[in-house]
Amino acid sequence: MQKQAYQPIDCLHFIDGKFVPSLDEKTFDNINPATEEKLGIVAEGGAPEIDLAVKAAKRALNGPWKKMTANERVAVLRKVGDLILERKDELSTLESLDTGKPTWLSGSIDVPRSAYNFHFFSDYIRTITNESTLMDDVALNYAIRRPVGVIGLINPWNLPLLLLTWKLAPALAAGNTIVMKPAELTPMTATILAEICRDAGIPDGVVNLVHGFGPHSAGAALTEHPDVNAISFTGETTTGKVIMTTAAKTLKRLSYELGGKNPNVIFSDSNLDEVIETTIKSSFINQGEVCLCGSRIYVERPAYEAFLEKFVAKTKELVIGDPFDPKTKVGALISEEHYERVTGYIKLALEEGGTIVQGGKRPGGLDKGFYLEPTIITGLDRKCRVVNEEIFGPVVTVMPFDTEEEVLDQVNDTHYGLSASVWTNDLRRAHRVAGQIEAGIVWVNTWFLRDLRTPFGGMKQSGIGREGGLHSFEFYSELTNICIKL
Ligand code: ADP
Repeated sequence: MQKQAYQPIDCLHFIDGKFVPSLDEKTFDNINPATEEKLGIVAEGGAPEIDLAVKAAKRALNGPWKKMTANERVAVLRKVGDLILERKDELSTLESLDTGKPTWLSGSIDVPRSAYNFHFFSDYIRTITNESTLMDDVALNYAIRRPVGVIGLINPWNLPLLLLTWKLAPALAAGNTIVMKPAELTPMTATILAEICRDAGIPDGVVNLVHGFGPHSAGAALTEHPDVNAISFTGETTTGKVIMTTAAKTLKRLSYELGGKNPNVIFSDSNLDEVIETTIKSSFINQGEVCLCGSRIYVERPAYEAFLEKFVAKTKELVIGDPFDPKTKVGALISEEHYERVTGYIKLALEEGGTIVQGGKRPGGLDKGFYLEPTIITGLDRKCRVVNEEIFGPVVTVMPFDTEEEVLDQVNDTHYGLSASVWTNDLRRAHRVAGQIEAGIVWVNTWFLRDLRTPFGGMKQSGIGREGGLHSFEFYSELTNICIKL
């Protein structure tokens, strides 16, 4: 593995403005997925640490944070974004060590986008206005916006810093206080982020961080705690169901961004080179470990053979290996357990009658680390598990279709509804098809293009609610309507 300029860190909790170990000093090992070696240790929190963090967050709701003017809050949050950029190389190194993703990716997307989340939502504060309603000459109503209270943020391991800041920035912008529980597999950048929040001048207790596991541990304790008013969660659909059941006992407000089995619909009139270039990304970027990745590729029959040939050829060119080698395009999967799960789906594809036309195995010469060749499967029926279940790895299925009606029927025949891509140069068809796909986000002739003002989230079992711009503020704030009789 190439040498890194920054060394991995041990991770403590951050509670009430201080880095602290667990009360019982318990820790767990943090493993580098690219080498299978130990990176360091992480404090293992549970209900006691969550309780301390929630108490600190509750106290901080009425402290100096509440008294800050909007301009002061804007300045502090902008500073968080600035400090993320100042520490970009360090954050990108730690993110790649934790996740196994290539550093070109963490350095060009994860970290800059994390800074932008803070810059964007701090600026957004100034655009928020309150609604007022005059009821004839009888009454004047106006609604004031206030924080929801203590927010629990539960995050996954695939885009650790990007997704944490995507929630933390608007939650803070709306005046809440926070307890964050990053994924146990990727604790390092969240720890640096806590330090950055402190250094930017966010008062003690406003941002708290507790490391630990999900079920029967820190995650469950956060969702159970009666003084946590809302949970924003990104992760697996099955985990979302468990959290909802737990959170129901205290009737918490929930924002969910869950799994997906996103379709790419490619019509034969589209520009094939452009399609291939983007489909390579939408299939294999971040080792396919992005909830927005397109994993069901439907190609109109006249273009099917040409697409498949070029797609396989371009996939073969992807360099797999050391995340710190600038040539690497595909790094390591997150963990052994996940590697087993993803390769289990490849075996299943063969049992279900599929053909592996590319990849499917560990790349030659990479004996350590959870590396897997980008994998393309054909010949599977729409009812197969591999076509219906989220794999969350560099594995896609390609299927031909004949008519618009037929492909729409297949595309929507899923419990998921996160995102989709449609490729066509026929303007009317683009609008017609995009409007009929049951997904929260539909891209036409592109993928992953995001304006942070737009609604982001999934329908069906891919999510509840939307975040982005005003949608985030709606979730992270409460409204009180004041009615004055005139
Ligand atoms: P994965 O299994 O791929 O890690 P999860 O959806 O389980 O994905 O994990 C996303 C986040 O949810 C992690 O921070 C994890 O610790 C947390 N988590 C998992 N199970 C629970 C649970 N029962 N309650 C609260 N948080 C949980």
